[in-house]
Amino acid sequence: MTSSEIADNLEEIATLLELQGANVFRIRAFNNAARVVRSVEIELSDFVEEASAGKVKGIGPAISENIQVLFNEGELPFLDELRDSFPEGLLELLNIPGLGAKKVKKLYEELEIESLSDLEEACKNEKLSDLKGFSSKTETNILESIERYRKFSSQFLYRTALEKSKEILEYLSKSKLTGKVELAGSLRRNKEVVKDIDIIATSRSPVKLMEKFTSYPSVEKIVAEGETKSSVIIEDGLGVDLRVVSEEEFAAAILHFTGSKEHNTRLRSIAIKKGLKLNEYGLFKDDTALSLDSEEAIYKELGLAWVPPELREDRSEIEEAQRLLKKKSTFARLIEVDDIKGILHAHSTYSDGKHTLEQMALAAKDLGFEYLGITDHSQTAAYAGGLKPAAVKKQHKEIDELNKKLAPFKILKGIESDILADGSLDYNEKVLESFDFIIASVHSQFNLDESAMTKRFINAIKNPYTTIIGHPTGRLLLKREAYALNIPEILSAAKEYGVSIELNANPRRLDLDWRYLSQARKLGISIPINPDAHSIEGMQNIAYGVKVARKGGLTKDESLCCMNLNSLEKFLDARRNDS
Ligand SMILES: [Zn+2]
Ligand SMILES: [Zn+2]
Repeated sequence: MTSSEIADNLEEIATLLELQGANVFRIRAFNNAARVVRSVEIELSDFVEEASAGKVKGIGPAISENIQVLFNEGELPFLDELRDSFPEGLLELLNIPGLGAKKVKKLYEELEIESLSDLEEACKNEKLSDLKGFSSKTETNILESIERYRKFSSQFLYRTALEKSKEILEYLSKSKLTGKVELAGSLRRNKEVVKDIDIIATSRSPVKLMEKFTSYPSVEKIVAEGETKSSVIIEDGLGVDLRVVSEEEFAAAILHFTGSKEHNTRLRSIAIKKGLKLNEYGLFKDDTALSLDSEEAIYKELGLAWVPPELREDRSEIEEAQRLLKKKSTFARLIEVDDIKGILHAHSTYSDGKHTLEQMALAAKDLGFEYLGITDHSQTAAYAGGLKPAAVKKQHKEIDELNKKLAPFKILKGIESDILADGSLDYNEKVLESFDFIIASVHSQFNLDESAMTKRFINAIKNPYTTIIGHPTGRLLLKREAYALNIPEILSAAKEYGVSIELNANPRRLDLDWRYLSQARKLGISIPINPDAHSIEGMQNIAYGVKVARKGGLTKDESLCCMNLNSLEKFLDARRNDS
C-alpha cells in the first residue's frame, strides 16, 4: 500500500467510528494520523518502523499497529469489521457531497434511511426538511447529487480503463488461441471517461478463447459467455466485452465497434447512397461482402480517407475525409508523446510537490526533455504551501545554480499564480517581472456566476505577465463539474492577448476539454500539454494529455511544449518585450 492509500483507510476508519458514535478523541486521533501519513516524506517502510517504535508525533501504539498491518497485508480486519457493522447501502451515502458521517447517522437513526434509494424517496417526499440541520434546499441539492453520483459511478477515468485494458490485451495476446486482438469502443477513441472496455479478436477456436477470457484472474463476475461474445465484470465494477469474429469480418467489426454511434450512422448513410450496405460483418453489395481487409479499404470504398479513431465523433471529420480523399491526401499527423520537448507545469517541494527542484529537473532531463518550467503555487494558495516573495527569490537563486550544472538542459522560472477573485495575479509587479513565464489558474471561489467568472478569467488573460491559463474549467472528472464559464469568450480573449491555454494532462482533469480544441486551434491559440506533475511519476501524465489532445485534432505545431528550448525562449522574450 502507498502512503496515500493507508491515509485513505485511516480516514475511512475515522468516518465509520463517527457513524458509530464513538468517542471524539478516538475519531480525531485517526484523522490526525491520516494527515501525518499523507505527508510522509521518507521511505514508507522506514516511516512504519519509526511509528511502531513510538517515534512519530501524533501516532500512538494502537494506530501504529493498524498502519503496520495495512502496510504489510494491504488490508485490515478491524476496518472490514467496522464496514460490516453497518447496513450495506448506508456507506454509499457518504459519497454524496455534503453528507458527512454526522448527517448520515442522523438520517439512519431518525428516518431509517439505509440506502441511496431510501434517501432519494425521503427527499422526494420532503421528509428531510423536518430534521434539524436539513432544509428543503438540502433536499433539492441531495437529489441532484444522487443523480450525478449515479452517473459518475458507472463511468471510469480513461487512465484506469486504459491500464486495465493493456493487462487484458497482454493476457489474451500471449495465448496461442488468439489471432488478431485489438481495442475498440470509446477507449480506442481516447474518450476522457469510458463506460467499459471493448475488445475484438480473431481465433481458430473461439470457444476456448472465450474460456480463457472468462478465467482472466481479476474477473469478478461473468455476465454472459458465448461463442462470439462474452462479457465480464472485473475489479472495481469495470465491464469488459470480448467479441470473436472471423478474419474476413475483422476490419468491419473493429470499425463498427470503435464507433462512435454518430460516426457510424454517417458511414451507413454514405454506403446506402452508393448502393452498398455497411454493418459489423462487412460492406455488402447485393448481399455479397466486398473483400476489404482493412479499415482504410472500407473508408476508401465509401469515398473517404481513413479517419483516425480518436476523431470519429461526427464533428466534421466525415466532410474532411471526403475532401482529403479527393485530393489523394490523408489526415494531418496528430501529436505524439515524442514531439514534446519540455515540461511547462510542475511542482516541487517548494510548494506541494513530492520531489525537490533538483530531483524534478534531473528526472525531466533523464526523460529526454530539454527544459522544465517549474511552477510552484503562489502565495495565496497557503493550503498548498504557496511561495511568499522571499521563497520565490530563494528558488530563483537555486535555479540559477542548477542551470549552471545541468546545461544545456534548463529550468525555466515559472509560477502557477492563483487568479484572485477580481482576476488579478498573486504578486506585485516586481515579483511578477522576475519569472520567465506564468501559468494563471483558479484554485478558490469556484461559485461565481458565469459572467463574473468569465470576467475574472479575462482580466487574468489581459494581464501582460500571464503566459498560460491553467486547467481552465476546474473540472475534476467524475468528481466535480466545471465551474460556470463562457469558454468561447475566454478563447477569443486568449487569441487577442496571445495567451496559451493548457491541456492539463492530469487524468482527472484533461482540461481544456477536447471538444473546444478545434475552436482554439482555428484561432491559433497554442495548447501546451501540461502534466501538472506533483512528483517525478506525475510527469507520465503527459501520455494521457497527448491522447486526449489527439482527440481534439492537435498537431505538434500547435503546442507550446513542442517548441525546442531555443525557440521557446525567443517566444517568451518576445512576449516580455511586448508587455
Ligand atoms: Zn492548479
Ligand atoms: Zn499545478
